[in-house]
This record gives sequence, C-alpha cells and structure tokens, in this order.
Amino acid sequence: MPFTKPILISGGGISSLLLASSLRSNNIPFIIYERDASPSFRAQGYRLRLSNEGLDAIEAALPPEKWEKFWAACGKTGGGDLAAYNAITGETLEAGGGLVTLITNVRPENMNDSDVMFGWTMGGSPGVIEPPNDNYTMVGKPAADIAKHLSRNWHPRFKPLFDNMVEQESAFWKITCSSPDGVPEWPNEPRVTVIGDAVHSMTPAGGIGANTAVRDSELLGRLLAQAGEFKEGITAAYEKEMRVYGSEAVKTSFRTAQGSLGVVPDLSRTIDPQNV
Ligand SMILES: Cc1cc2nc3c(=O)[nH]c(=O)nc-3n(C[C@H](O)[C@H](O)[C@H](O)COP(=O)(O)OP(=O)(O)OC[C@H]3O[C@@H](n4cnc5c(N)ncnc54)[C@H](O)[C@@H]3O)c2cc1C
Repeated sequence: MPFTKPILISGGGISSLLLASSLRSNNIPFIIYERDASPSFRAQGYRLRLSNEGLDAIEAALPPEKWEKFWAACGKTGGGDLAAYNAITGETLEAGGGLVTLITNVRPENMNDSDVMFGWTMGGSPGVIEPPNDNYTMVGKPAADIAKHLSRNWHPRFKPLFDNMVEQESAFWKITCSSPDGVPEWPNEPRVTVIGDAVHSMTPAGGIGANTAVRDSELLGRLLAQAGEFKEGITAAYEKEMRVYGSEAVKTSFRTAQGSLGVVPDLSRTIDPQNV
C-alpha cells in the first residue's frame, strides 16, 4: 500500500466534518483538530436553514446511506419567509427592520408542541448589544440577563420567550464578517487552504453561511478525491472557484442584513488578515 500522508483539518465544524466525510468515502486519510473539548463544552446549538444549493453539496459529498440518514433527520419546511413584528406594540410589520432582531427556529407545525424547545437568536447592529467588560464569550445567566434587559419593555406576546428561558443554554457571541467586497486574493500556498466561515464569514441574514461552507467541503473533497490524494494545483483550483461563489454569498448576506433586518455592520472595526 502506498503511504499517503493525512490531510490535517483544523476545526471540527460543519465544513470540516463534511470534508472529512468526503475524504473518508474516498479512503484519503485525515486528522481533525478541534479546540472544544466536546459538543456540549459551551452553550451552543441552533437549526440551520439549508438551501437547495447547500443540500446538493451535502448530498454530493456524503455516501448515499449517510445522506439518507441526514435527510431523514431534517425538518422539511419547504422554505419560508420571515415574519416581522414591532417589539413594543406587538403589531405585524410589512417588512423587517429595527435595531434588535429576533430570529426563531421552530417550524409552524411545531409551535404548539410542548416537547419542542423554542430556540431563538437576538441580534443587533454593533453598539446596540454591548456585553459588560467587552466579554464576547459569556455564557449562561449573564448572557440571558442581557436579553432580558433589552426586552424589558417588549410587548407581552413576546414575554414568554424571556420568562421561560433556559438560562444555562444562553450564549453571547460577536459576529465578525468578511469584508463586503468578498473573499480577498492571496498568493496560493499549495499545501494550505481555508474553507467555511474561516474564509467567508457573514451575517446570519439570509441563512447562507453554512450553505456556502458545505459547498467548499464538497468542492475541495471532490478535487482531492479525483486526484486520490494531495496534488499540486488542487488548492489553487479550489480557491479560484470558491472565491467566486464565496464573494457573492458575502455580498448577499450584507445586502440582506441591511435591507431586510436593518442591521448595519460596523465597517470601521476591521481586522487586517495579515495579523490574524
Ligand atoms: C444565529 C446564526 C444562525 C445561522 N443560521 C444559518 C442558516 O440558517 N443557514 C446557514 O447556511 N448558515 C447559518 N448560519 C451560519 C453558519 O452557522 C456558519 O456559516 C457555519 O457554522 C460555518 O461552518 P464552519 O464549519 O465554517 O465553522 P464553524 O461551524 O464555526 O466551526 C468551526 C470549528 O472550529 C473550531 N475552532 C476554532 N478555532 C480553532 C482552533 N484554533 N483550533 C481548533 N479548532 C478551532 C471551533 O470550535 C468550531 O468547532 C448561522 C449563524 C448564526 C450565528
């Protein structure tokens, strides 16, 4: 048997795990390094809306039996729009917008099912929700208290969301986005590349971050599978294609955040990628 060095994957998120699954199907060895000690190491977890493009990528990357298992576990919503409410009056709004936005994850048919946990994310423009001591990694009660404080004057129809919070499941996080210009150019380094949020992070608006991340996994996994192992030119080919759809997704996400949700990203707080 020829010896093939393993592909080293940093991070065990959705994009890494899908890439790893694709590599496994093609007998290409890999090692994943994950920072968190376990999936329940910190409060986290949410549902993802997957688009046809995202689902196509997952189906292409997984062997048929794994895809069928995955598909069986998915909620089939058929898509669905966001409904917007005035938080103070409780009235339905024509369009989204506002400084604080609440996105929930329960499907309409499950709304009255007491066994289904109602998960939600409260988001806002930079400066609207500031954690004490600039602590952007707080979990549990301190994070829950911020949401309760911000919603203290909200209409009673929204109060149960906050009164019944499972406080230990709360988590605060700061969303850092790629530049609205999209994925930058950099000199290709044949043995190193980046996938998922690490190369095109975006606002949750539009629900396309994971959908774009899984396209990366499928594309890179397919190129590696076609070559049978790492070969010169694979990461360059991957980056060339990814840069096109990745940049488009970042731009769409910015447009949706500002247009539909009224969230204004703070472009003055930029991070130089050379210093990361
Ligand atoms: C509220 C919210 C709702 C969203 N809804 C949707 C949606 O509906 N549809 C959609 O398509 N997208 C959605 N997204 C975006 C989606 O969650 C991300 O785009 C997706 O998780 C990115 O996957 P990833 O594998 O690139 O990164 P992640 O899922 O973030 O995984 C990265 C992993 O790397 C690990 N890690 C980090 N640093 C290191 C290190 N130094 N060493 C080792 N491991 C490390 C982390 O612990 C983590 O496990 C949403 C995001 C948010 C915040």
